[in-house]
Amino acid sequence: MITKNLEVPKRALAIGAHPDDIEFGAGATLAKWSDHGCEVSMLICTDGSKGTWNSDIDKGELITKRKSEQISAAVELKATGKVAFLGEVDGELEISENLRKRLTLFIRNLRPNVVLTHDPWKRYRLHPDHRNVGYLVLDAIVAARDPLFFPEQNVAPHRPDELLLFEAELEDHFEQCDGYENSKLNALLCHQSQLESTMGIGSASIDADTAAFKKHELSKLDRSYAGEEFSVAEAYKRISEL
Ligand SMILES: [Zn+2]
Repeated sequence: MITKNLEVPKRALAIGAHPDDIEFGAGATLAKWSDHGCEVSMLICTDGSKGTWNSDIDKGELITKRKSEQISAAVELKATGKVAFLGEVDGELEISENLRKRLTLFIRNLRPNVVLTHDPWKRYRLHPDHRNVGYLVLDAIVAARDPLFFPEQNVAPHRPDELLLFEAELEDHFEQCDGYENSKLNALLCHQSQLESTMGIGSASIDADTAAFKKHELSKLDRSYAGEEFSVAEAYKRISEL
């Protein structure tokens, strides 16, 4: 069954593997929800330290830059919640009890109504961090809701109402985002360190490449194949039984 437009949640938590993943997957939805009073928080699991084609780069500087880019992107989306970083090494994030515990604590503390993250079942996905973060979030949602997981955390259990998986293998939920396209694009362009490696900007002319990138992202928002009303929308796999 196809569903559309959740009731605007009070609190949403988006969890991404790298700085910029959340904006690619759910930027327009989060901008819309922020605009309607939702407290949007973001958790970035890795330090983004492999996000460059320049092998001579100072890793510490790249990590700092990417954090500040993420914070700027959150401002662009008018997110009023937390922007937090787990700091795992980019490309090396593994599913572990320790990370499950840290994510569980985050969910229990923030008490989001909706959680958004990577779809770990997306076929032919190369990047291990995207898969692993998706699985970890699922595991942490189970742990966060059940009191016998990590009782030493001394925080009340919390069960979110909805989980939305972005870049979904099977799309069954759409958020109409008319009017929030530019917020998404501007938030993406906050990730200046990623222009070349992720967005293809800078090889020829910055202006022409930026225009091409925007056009491409806008075309991805066109989900009218699912119905005319979704001509500007982000698509998800929705899981409501949490
Ligand atoms: Zn990523």
